[in-house]
Amino acid sequence: MTIKTFDFQGFLDLAGVEKPGDDLLNTCVRCGLCLESCPTYTRLGREPSSPRGRIALIRGVAEGRIAVDAPGFLHQMDECLGCLACQAVCPSGVQYGHLLEAGRAQAKAAKPAGPLRRLIERAVFRLLFVNLTLFWLFARSMWLYQKSGLQFVVRQLGLLKLLGLAGSEKLLPVVNNQFLLAGGQQYTPTSASARPKRVALLTGCVQSVAFAHVHEATINTLQANGCQVVLPPGQQCCGALHAHGGDFEQARVLARQNIEALEAANPDVVVVNAAGCSHHLKEYAHLLKDDPVYAERAEKFVAKARDITELLAELGPAPATAPLPWRVTYQEPCHLAHGQKVTGQPRQVLAAIPGLELVEMAESAMCCGSAGTYNIMQPEMATRLQTDKLDNALATGATVIASANTGCMIQLEAGLKERGQPAKVMHIVEILDAAYRNDGRYRTSQIIDVAAIRAQTAARRKRVALGAAVVALAGLTLRLLLRKGRK
Ligand code: SF4
Ligand code: SF4
Repeated sequence: MTIKTFDFQGFLDLAGVEKPGDDLLNTCVRCGLCLESCPTYTRLGREPSSPRGRIALIRGVAEGRIAVDAPGFLHQMDECLGCLACQAVCPSGVQYGHLLEAGRAQAKAAKPAGPLRRLIERAVFRLLFVNLTLFWLFARSMWLYQKSGLQFVVRQLGLLKLLGLAGSEKLLPVVNNQFLLAGGQQYTPTSASARPKRVALLTGCVQSVAFAHVHEATINTLQANGCQVVLPPGQQCCGALHAHGGDFEQARVLARQNIEALEAANPDVVVVNAAGCSHHLKEYAHLLKDDPVYAERAEKFVAKARDITELLAELGPAPATAPLPWRVTYQEPCHLAHGQKVTGQPRQVLAAIPGLELVEMAESAMCCGSAGTYNIMQPEMATRLQTDKLDNALATGATVIASANTGCMIQLEAGLKERGQPAKVMHIVEILDAAYRNDGRYRTSQIIDVAAIRAQTAARRKRVALGAAVVALAGLTLRLLLRKGRK
């Protein structure tokens, strides 16, 4: 089967129009029980900025009562965070996330961005995020930009302010010198288990370059809980950003590629350590429901998909044997708490660490303002939510803010840095890893960096070249001997 990776046709036409079906539109009974969970409604206090208001707009457009390019509709498709807090509390089971994605696709098709912005969107979402080699090269240049001092110079000269990029650049995560690139690596269990599992890890895009340490913690803790971990080659970005932006066509291409790559490793479980991505992996069945080849495969695939906190909770996890006296508060990622209803499991993982004190913050499941690219596109609301989140987190007196999603961790880190606060943001799995290291279970580093991958590839090439030379020499010698024999 050929899988399309990049389509130069229609280079400037990003959106595919996808209208929401009646089954989606007609479930809202307008009870309003979701209003108090909505970050934008609670902060702005107006009906159009509420889930009920937005559903009415999406419905109005679908029924032709509201023009698809009406400014109110377009504004609300952008203002919504897609945090799914409304969906989690809705008694009628409204699938708000699917409604929003369909509404956004329509909005994008109705009012396409200017040529320059579309070109940039294409370059980012249809080149960088669909070709991990390019993405890694880009990440390398970002690493150079940060380490060479150029970032400092550019900031001091105020160049970013002139270009209107100061806010976005601030959110650039610190890119690691070490990447974790999926290339077929296998890690054996370091402890025996009654229920050994073969786990395939989706290493993703941003996580593989800026959160390799979280991948390392994931591999370590799974090995320590009796799992074999594999990093299947050929995997891609999960496609969440594409789907959330209404680009279903590309999201489906990535979903098919990931199903192919991860299924090939024959895992019992497919695990992801970024909640936005684990949520999106579970959406593959919905995304590919009309695909005659992949619909059934996607359902089976989704049955195996787990967030890392969910899997560790399922496994036990093995308790740490030495105390780790940390005061920790937990910020719940929206796509874990609301999108997957995984709320007890991260706390269960932390409970496996003796001496750790978990102090709950107010509004722990309220969005932090990250929401994919929301903090870049809607900086005002994003900053407001970031401020509230950090106020609540720091009021607990915790020195560690635990989370389970890449976007949230970047958003919280950026806010702490701006406040000059020494508190640390850590993934739940990093905290368990620290506890296991603390009890002396292991000390090794599993991260494979780019240099190592390059060295491996060069060594492989040398072996192949050497093998070919030996075969050619043997063939030549044989021919000469045969010729001599004939004489
Ligand atoms: S989305 Fe659900 S909770 Fe909100 S108004 Fe509609 S039915 Fe009620
Ligand atoms: S997804 Fe979040 S921001 Fe959007 S309507 Fe629902 S609760 Fe409000």
